[in-house]
Amino acid sequence: MDAFEEAFADASIAGRLGHFLVVVGVEYPHTRRFAERLARIALCQGKERRPCDTCVSCSVSLTLNPDYFFRSGIEADGLGIDDAKEFTRFGSMHSMLGGWRVVLIEGADHLNSSAANALLKTLEEPAPQTMFLFSAHTRSRLPETIRSRAMFFRLPLVARDSGEQASPDTTEDIVEKLNAYPSGQALDTVLSDWQRALQVRLRATLDGAASTPRVLGDIASLWKHIAEARKRVHANVNPRLIVESLLARSYA
Ligand SMILES: [Zn+2]
Repeated sequence: MDAFEEAFADASIAGRLGHFLVVVGVEYPHTRRFAERLARIALCQGKERRPCDTCVSCSVSLTLNPDYFFRSGIEADGLGIDDAKEFTRFGSMHSMLGGWRVVLIEGADHLNSSAANALLKTLEEPAPQTMFLFSAHTRSRLPETIRSRAMFFRLPLVARDSGEQASPDTTEDIVEKLNAYPSGQALDTVLSDWQRALQVRLRATLDGAASTPRVLGDIASLWKHIAEARKRVHANVNPRLIVESLLARSYA
């Protein structure tokens, strides 16, 4: 468990959990697993430890938990007003298992503006014991109305306890730079910084407890996409096309 998860679990046990949190992270499967771990903590009813692995909420899988609602804006190719109404309806229902309810929206930067507007009232006056947990690629892509109401947690690219010097660029910095569509040489520099940051992360992962084949696979596949993108830069492909296909792939 990392420091943020511990603080989140402490807040949950103390009954001080907020109602709206956005997790920002560029590596989509990693961000999703992190958000799911937070959801398990929020749903848990353990008195001393969360997740406790023994309470009624912990004893069912997340997908079967009646107090958990998941929707992906990435898989669904965008989220519209009907989705927003569905989240609101779910969020206003009573808890089935007696604890908190969690609405996890993956890729909240894929909410269109009418969906974001439809969610405003719910986010401003959430039902008791209900948490809206969003994940997003980057903070700047979220509608302003959402941005101004959320608490944010940005997933570090590099494990904090690695003892390594982190890359000066955070994941979000890199994505911001990509979203500015740098041309040729500048794009290559951003991509090479990203590879360097991944290298540091890979070393930290290999040294740490988080070293599962899946995490390593995620890093390797992102690395491969970046390497392919750099080849395309060198072949003078339109930088905008390169950036768009890279951002789409790092979600896939
Ligand atoms: Zn539990």
